[in-house]
Amino acid sequence: MTAPRIGFIGLGAMGAPMARNLSAAGLLGYVWNRTPAKARVLGGELGVSVAATPAELARQCDIIGLCVSADQDVLHVVDALLPGLHPGTIVIDHSTVSVNTARSVAETITAKGGEFLDAPVSGGVEGAKAGTLAIMVGGNPATLERALPALEAVGSRITHMGGVGAGQATKAVNQVLCAGINQAVTEALAFAQSLGLELEKVIDVVSRGAAGNWFLEKRGPTMIRGKFAPGFKLALHHKDLKICQSMARELGLTLEQVEKTLADYEKLLDSHGDEDISALYRLQRPNQP
Ligand code: NAP
Repeated sequence: MTAPRIGFIGLGAMGAPMARNLSAAGLLGYVWNRTPAKARVLGGELGVSVAATPAELARQCDIIGLCVSADQDVLHVVDALLPGLHPGTIVIDHSTVSVNTARSVAETITAKGGEFLDAPVSGGVEGAKAGTLAIMVGGNPATLERALPALEAVGSRITHMGGVGAGQATKAVNQVLCAGINQAVTEALAFAQSLGLELEKVIDVVSRGAAGNWFLEKRGPTMIRGKFAPGFKLALHHKDLKICQSMARELGLTLEQVEKTLADYEKLLDSHGDEDISALYRLQRPNQP
């Protein structure tokens, strides 16, 4: 069986390293990015073709990976690639968007004879670089089977969650957890700072016990030095938590951590929305503006 020709759209903090891993696996043929310079640089580095438009990329590929910012961006990119889509081509969306967007895009793509998987990811920029992302997939199991080479090149845990939208529903659960973890870590480190403890030592020792977690280990050392380079942009997590809030409201639920984190992020969005979500520490740390 010949390897699928894969194209990748959206070469941001997550998409660029994912494309690099697809290329390392010998699968990447084409890239496209809204800001063309990024595609030219990465295409040159990897020796892959840069498509002039999403439709041109679709014309050349059997599998198309997407990793763009938000719901409107996925809808826009899918509209733009449709004129080039062949019957049987699989579109895999790795962006974090709503279940409704996943379902709507799936309908548009299947109406043109294509196939669709929602396949949001978790593991941060570090996981994207290492090719160890956790991938939560919604869609037809036979489509997932055909798409496995593209998913295995970027992730180490690939889990089929159900029909289209089930991947995004699972990712919403993940984002609620991230909100609670961000609140707990930033509050605890601010408490440690008020107690006059050595913060590096606190992070080191508690990371090895029951309170250890990915965010504390990866972002704790930078946040205590006032460094908030993304990472995962606060504005993107805010977008995700708005999705979680609306899903919860449809169920008649209130997610307390989500409500608090949205209110906190709204204080930071204008000046710090492009920083990492650990910028929440700005609101928690003592004696800081
Ligand atoms: P990013 O660095 O801001 O990159 C966003 C990418 O989307 C860029 O390539 C951007 O193009 C492209 N884009 C945005 N709007 C577009 C549009 N209307 N049409 C075409 N392209 C568009 O964001 P990221 O951190 O890679 O995140 C991408 C997705 O992954 C988001 O849904 C995010 O929630 C999710 N995610 C992020 C992380 C993380 O840790 N960063 C982890 C898991 C999931 P330009 O270069 O032209 O701006």
